[in-house]
Amino acid sequence: MSDIEEHRKKIEEITLEMIKLLKTRTDIAKQIGNAKASLGMTVTDEEREDTLRTQVAKLCKEIDLDQSTASKFLNLLLNESVKVQSHNKQTHLSMFLKAKALEEQGKKIIHLEVGEPDFKPPEEVKTALTEVYDKGYGKYGSAKGITELRKVLAVKENCSEENIMICPGARFAVYLVITTLLNPGDEMIVIEPTWPAYKDCALNAGIKVRTTKTTLETKWEPSVEQINNAINENTKMIVLNYPNNPTGKVIPKKLLDDIIQTAKGHDLYVLSDEIYSEYANNDWQSISIYDYEKSIVTKSFSKSHAMTGFRIGYTIAEQSIIDKMSKLQALSLTNVSEPIQYVALQALKADTSKNTEIINSRLEALVKIAKDIGLEFVEPDGAMYLFAKTKYKDFDATKFSEKLLEYGVAIAPGEGFGDYKEFFRITAIDESKLIEGMKILDTMLKESYG
Ligand code: PMP
Repeated sequence: MSDIEEHRKKIEEITLEMIKLLKTRTDIAKQIGNAKASLGMTVTDEEREDTLRTQVAKLCKEIDLDQSTASKFLNLLLNESVKVQSHNKQTHLSMFLKAKALEEQGKKIIHLEVGEPDFKPPEEVKTALTEVYDKGYGKYGSAKGITELRKVLAVKENCSEENIMICPGARFAVYLVITTLLNPGDEMIVIEPTWPAYKDCALNAGIKVRTTKTTLETKWEPSVEQINNAINENTKMIVLNYPNNPTGKVIPKKLLDDIIQTAKGHDLYVLSDEIYSEYANNDWQSISIYDYEKSIVTKSFSKSHAMTGFRIGYTIAEQSIIDKMSKLQALSLTNVSEPIQYVALQALKADTSKNTEIINSRLEALVKIAKDIGLEFVEPDGAMYLFAKTKYKDFDATKFSEKLLEYGVAIAPGEGFGDYKEFFRITAIDESKLIEGMKILDTMLKESYG
């Protein structure tokens, strides 16, 4: 046998052996997953992962193997474990679907779990919908979006139209950012509690998520030290979302300065999801003020213009980043529906300050009721939610949410936002419904735990 043939045979043997080991590893990971689920433990144990990382680094030195390649491979294996171990968590979405099914059976439900404004889009949207056919929109178009809309958004966002790309909602924009800029085995930092899609996108793309957990006691503020501890040579991005879903938190400007400084120091991308910027108090700052070339902002018409079902949003970034993302957007959907882009363009002419006032006054009402019934929380600085726990020890928000739904009120259990089983999220909806829903919630709490 020639040398090449001999080496090929060896490689094939090693590959087959690796596949067998992978099977054994997956089976054991599943068993661990079941045990964790029955004990109510979280899937990811970052301390344990760090220990393994250190062992891998040591081994790499011993056998003279490139550490970065080995860590990326380790990340892929860790992600596979997360995938096989993830049991069905209750999220705001799963509660919404359960609530919808009950409504179909004729039950009346008060929706305190949904993440959308319950008022209508502006009148300009209605007019635009009647005009759009005759205007001739409706052909294939540019993947980055129609020029008129990009131009108007560029003025609003104080940038050039080259820095804007229209997307079918901020969710898809987030998907494009993560999938385009990161590679399998790379790492991304997410601050918890968090809207779950950042982590899900990463998992889907083979990217390892490092979480920085924040607490009610520290007012949902991450520390720069925590963030620094999560950074290593494979870290490529940090995700920020202020005002935050689910806590409503806006971090102080000095902390934001320090986080951006850290990101710059480690050459990280910063994905800043600013979808709730219209519903923020005065202290809120967009990360665009830093002029950092590796920052990407995602925004949407969903919350500001109550246009959730229209599926339209946009992203702001350096032109080179927009170019990369537009390639994936072209590949996956050709272009965003042009009639909807026209409608969005007209929607921008509307005065939405009333929406801001409505959400602010609802949040104030929600805070007052929540205080009256003794919930524990940090007052939100913006967004549309309250993230709270009760004074009861061993309170399980998932079980409570399921029970409450039987009594006609849907809330979002905290476990959908990270390791927060004792918390739940309530949306600031129309005040009369809010009062009714919170009354039922209070009664159920007292009956179950009081
Ligand atoms: N980011 C956050 C923080 C959200 O809460 C949501 C929706 N709930 C989105 C993005 C997605 O918004 P869109 O409807 O524009 O896809």
